[in-house]
Amino acid sequence: MSKTILVVEDEESIRKFVKINLERSGFTVFEAPTGEEGVEIAAREEIDIVVLDVMLPGMDGFEVCKTLRENYPSLGIIMLTAKSQDIDKITGLEYGTDDYMTKPFNPTELVLRVKSLARRLEVDEHDDSMLDFKPFKIDVYSRQFFKNDNEIELTPTEFSIAKLFIENPGKAFKRDEILNHVWGVDFVGDSKIVDVNIRRLRSKIEEDSSQPSYIETVWGVGYRWKSKD
Ligand code: CA
Repeated sequence: MSKTILVVEDEESIRKFVKINLERSGFTVFEAPTGEEGVEIAAREEIDIVVLDVMLPGMDGFEVCKTLRENYPSLGIIMLTAKSQDIDKITGLEYGTDDYMTKPFNPTELVLRVKSLARRLEVDEHDDSMLDFKPFKIDVYSRQFFKNDNEIELTPTEFSIAKLFIENPGKAFKRDEILNHVWGVDFVGDSKIVDVNIRRLRSKIEEDSSQPSYIETVWGVGYRWKSKD
């Protein structure tokens, strides 16, 4: 199924360039030169993924990201950043981006990232399974995540990580394995993105994220979903 992408970038040449490359790969693309217009389009159209520049006049990319996340938790968000910007801030708890690219970027790579994120959003029409791992439940078809039957809104990336863990309880995953499973083997960014997403996931699902009882850190390796005692 073709996905709809919104490109929010004030620099027209970059915006058009990104649009052309995404359209060539079969995506439907909307464009916005300001954050305000981006938020407007997201409210009006059915957007799956937003490619969002950080540096925008008026409302900046962080504010746009925050607004979009509040309103559309399942939206995919890829941020475009300047080299000097702090990855932790961009991918951090507050904003919850799924991925980021540092400018100047290769358009082919951006398309790969968008495709990878689109896969994370993909619903498997034939998979109506319900993963049950007390107190959690995952409805694979509707991509909903529950704790004690209360829904917790996860970003597409957090959902994919949670699903990977719950399907493999007790297995220690290396950061690179999580990257390959969730972001795809073509991901060439920093594996730190795994840590920030896990930190965010913990803050949503753990009682006390400083003493996690579900997602354990495996020192020197990565992470493990605690299997039932
Ligand atoms: Ca800009």
